[in-house]
Amino acid sequence: MAARDQKQMNLVISEIRQETPEIKSFRFDLGSNKPFPFRPGQFVIITAEVWNPKRNRMGTANRAFSLSSSPTEEDFIEIAAKRYPEGRLTPWLHDTVKVGDILNVKGPEGNFVFTESESDELVLIAGGIGIAPYRSMIRYILAKGLPVRVTLLYSARTPADFAFKPEFDAAMDHFSNFHCIYTVTRPDPTPWTGRVGRFDEAFLRDHLGPVGTLYYLCGPDRMIKDCAQTLTALGVSYPLIRSERW
Ligand SMILES: Cc1cc2nc3c(=O)[nH]c(=O)nc-3n(C[C@H](O)[C@H](O)[C@H](O)COP(=O)(O)OP(=O)(O)OC[C@H]3O[C@@H](n4cnc5c(N)ncnc54)[C@H](O)[C@@H]3O)c2cc1C
Repeated sequence: MAARDQKQMNLVISEIRQETPEIKSFRFDLGSNKPFPFRPGQFVIITAEVWNPKRNRMGTANRAFSLSSSPTEEDFIEIAAKRYPEGRLTPWLHDTVKVGDILNVKGPEGNFVFTESESDELVLIAGGIGIAPYRSMIRYILAKGLPVRVTLLYSARTPADFAFKPEFDAAMDHFSNFHCIYTVTRPDPTPWTGRVGRFDEAFLRDHLGPVGTLYYLCGPDRMIKDCAQTLTALGVSYPLIRSERW
């Protein structure tokens, strides 16, 4: 999508949902800004006047957030934001922004996208809040009934840190082309019968797709580097690996 296709919008927040202790979803009503075409996986920039502790005064902050809603949801867009306690924009977003507030949103941008014609086999590898762009891709593929097989490998610190788990579990029950495997890196007292551990070579080997499968990586820098290295060592050719570093 070319820069000329981007829009600068003032959008009303119509819904806020607490997804996990650290992640909230924010829904923006598109109102008169419809249509807002974008590709699943793209992001928007939110601009706000927030406190700048380094300068000890208010200042402008611009931060990117992946669109977590699907382009098929034409009346609104959603983002999922993790709260970084020492950050500038996300504590404001989590603690101050309310339904009815108007935020400045620019976009869409980005090339970390799902394109229908490229492959009918996807392996989406997510660490933590790196799940956000995949929610858009998954909702899009399932809503359009596309003949694409999606395997989501989703890692979080503890079972309570999985955003959208009820939604993904329900999707697995209804769609035979969507499968999600959860893994936690730090088991806690919450009962958990799923996998424990990082994305290691054995795990990734078990979930390799057929030749031509596209692999998407989104999450912490270290995870992306390790997974990309492991996938190439397992014989996946580099052009089939897409990644987005935050
Ligand atoms: C393409 C793209 C898509 C993205 N999508 C999402 C998304 O969907 N959801 C999401 O939550 N984020 C996303 N991000 C990240 C997002 O843009 C922000 O970087 C993030 O939300 C933190 O913003 P912030 O202003 O709260 O923190 P910042 O002020 O930018 O701080 C970032 C980090 O630095 C630390 N830090 C800040 N100041 C200091 C200091 N003085 N000393 C030590 N550490 C410090 C903070 O604790 C925090 O961990 C995306 C980024 C990119 C590039």
